[in-house]
Amino acid sequence: MADAILVLNAGSSSLKFSVFLDRRGEEPQLALRGQIEGILGTAMFSARDANGAVLAEHALGAAAPRGHGGAASFLLDWLEQRPEGLQLAAAGHRVVHGGREFSAPVRVSASVMAALEQLVPLAPLHQPHNLAAIRAVAARAPGLAQVACFDTAFHAAQPPLAQAFALPRRLTDAGLRRYGFHGLSYEFIEHLLPSVDARASAGRTVVAHLGNGASMCALAGGRSVASTMGFTALDGLPMGTRCGAIEPGVLLYLMDQEGMDARGLEQLLYHESGLLGVSGISSDMRALLASDDAHAAEAVDLFVYRIVRELGSLAAALGGLDALVFTAGIGENAPPVRARVCRAASWLGVELDEAANVRGGPRISREGSRASAWVLATNEELMIALHTRAVLSAPAAE
Ligand code: ADP
Repeated sequence: MADAILVLNAGSSSLKFSVFLDRRGEEPQLALRGQIEGILGTAMFSARDANGAVLAEHALGAAAPRGHGGAASFLLDWLEQRPEGLQLAAAGHRVVHGGREFSAPVRVSASVMAALEQLVPLAPLHQPHNLAAIRAVAARAPGLAQVACFDTAFHAAQPPLAQAFALPRRLTDAGLRRYGFHGLSYEFIEHLLPSVDARASAGRTVVAHLGNGASMCALAGGRSVASTMGFTALDGLPMGTRCGAIEPGVLLYLMDQEGMDARGLEQLLYHESGLLGVSGISSDMRALLASDDAHAAEAVDLFVYRIVRELGSLAAALGGLDALVFTAGIGENAPPVRARVCRAASWLGVELDEAANVRGGPRISREGSRASAWVLATNEELMIALHTRAVLSAPAAE
């Protein structure tokens, strides 16, 4: 029997999972990972081992229970039957919003769940699914310890100015402020940096998390001091289907002139904008880079332009730049995007090493470059496993 930590990341229609072996004194080690997609319809299950070999790939029969509850039950049954003899010690969850109350991971209890429910209006598209997964695991495995890890927590200690909107104080007091997201990814990079480069770890570093969701974060000595995402995961960079920063007057115009309501705006801003909206072709950077359509090129141009603009803003918040880190799907795998950002950042002291960039780094700046540039793979799941273990091994508060 091997002690294991189950890590769950619940989306609207999918449940992604990883299982880490938890051996004393060692970093948790990935044993297997996979997902259940289409959990509201015909669910597809797939799992791979740590080397990527397929362990399972099949549809869940029509009789299988639906929703997050059904998916969690199926997954826990499947894990119990694995020949590895995995003994789950805990489940760690990605939870998008911790609000002002949770600035660190927390063991789930009834009162914690009640507090997290209160935050649903702040992240209506994500938080309900995260909480559904916690409830589903609790129903199927009531004795299993569960830990909630928040995408907002890493940013909680940002200076008040970085968190404030210029709105009347009563609205700020009611929680309308910048929270920042992708915190588990930034925290993982911060955890990695000391072994990569002492100056990047101790100095003024901007991390660009460029995936389907995309944001950037300014780290001063490893602490988040500013980020491009704010009150919701819409702000900042254009993303796969999300608009990024948009002048608020545009929303007033759409409401007044096109009669759009909140749901219509939500659909437009979250699902029809960004790379997909500009290109009219795809939300997927691979497809856009491969296309010779002028609108695909425009979408990539806008993505790069906004990254470069935000980099200037974050460098201003830091008072300079010592290092720039690229991570997530696009950041880790798209040399042309990295090259264009780095070339445009030459005024900040970034000198691109073209060959190293094409090879994928990790260091992609030239020897002697005033600011260094890096490609580092993020691992939010491992960060959750580390937090889960730490929360459960800490002495109980009561
Ligand atoms: P998520 O935010 O869903 O976790 P990922 O971090 O997996 O997303 O990033 C997905 C994005 O990464 C997509 O736009 C995809 O096209 C892009 N991507 C993945 N591999 C490549 C590649 N080889 N070249 C360019 N873009 C890539």
